[in-house]
Amino acid sequence: MRKLAAGNWKMNGLRDSLSEIGTLSETHASPAVDVLICPPATLITPARAAATASIAIGAQDCHAVSSGAHTGDIAAEMLVEAGASAIIVGHSERRSDHAETDAMVKAKAEAAIGAGAIAIVCLGETLEEREAGSTISVVAKQLAGSLPDGATAANTVIAYEPVWAIGTGKVATPEQIAEVHEALRIDLQDKMADGSDVRILYGGSVKAANATEIFALPNVDGALVGGASLTAEQFSPIITALEAAS
Ligand code: PEP
Repeated sequence: MRKLAAGNWKMNGLRDSLSEIGTLSETHASPAVDVLICPPATLITPARAAATASIAIGAQDCHAVSSGAHTGDIAAEMLVEAGASAIIVGHSERRSDHAETDAMVKAKAEAAIGAGAIAIVCLGETLEEREAGSTISVVAKQLAGSLPDGATAANTVIAYEPVWAIGTGKVATPEQIAEVHEALRIDLQDKMADGSDVRILYGGSVKAANATEIFALPNVDGALVGGASLTAEQFSPIITALEAAS
């Protein structure tokens, strides 16, 4: 399985930021892992133009249907036409800011796959859920509710992102990450014929200083990176660490 270093720029970036993608393309002309940058939707087309074929461009969300009266929303087909080959769905910021449920995330993931993109399905527990000892049951429920029908290892990626570790500088411990990724792997094997090959990313304050330790863990097939994906300077060593672990 080819590992995946995915960057989520969230609501950051104007055209100026495209130079970061140019730099990444030069530094990683032939990466040993898949590299993906998900800029804001406004930058997908110019990002695709700024990147070489070694860097994939993705989107951060999509609507569940392909067209209609949904002011302000963007369909998966539109994102793919703009240049996205993967779409993040169910990020915890979407789940909390926009009250997205597992059923909505599943429908969006199915729309992404239907449009020919890879669906990156995010899940993860809150601090309260972890402290209550319900992490494994929470992520199992999210996986069961969010996994798209028709999911295969080729069209679906899972990102485990503990909510309390996103953008906080707090990283889950290696034991915490390994425990959740193992539970997800077993569930995926149970639900899918090729569940052993589905990439499971860790996300939550990944940076150059902790990447090597995280990538050495079993069932960690890459990372979904927020803050540290905004500059080539910070994202490049994460890609290199993942290549070293491959
Ligand atoms: C994310 O945006 O999915 C994320 C994990 O952010 P950060 O790396 O900044 O914690």
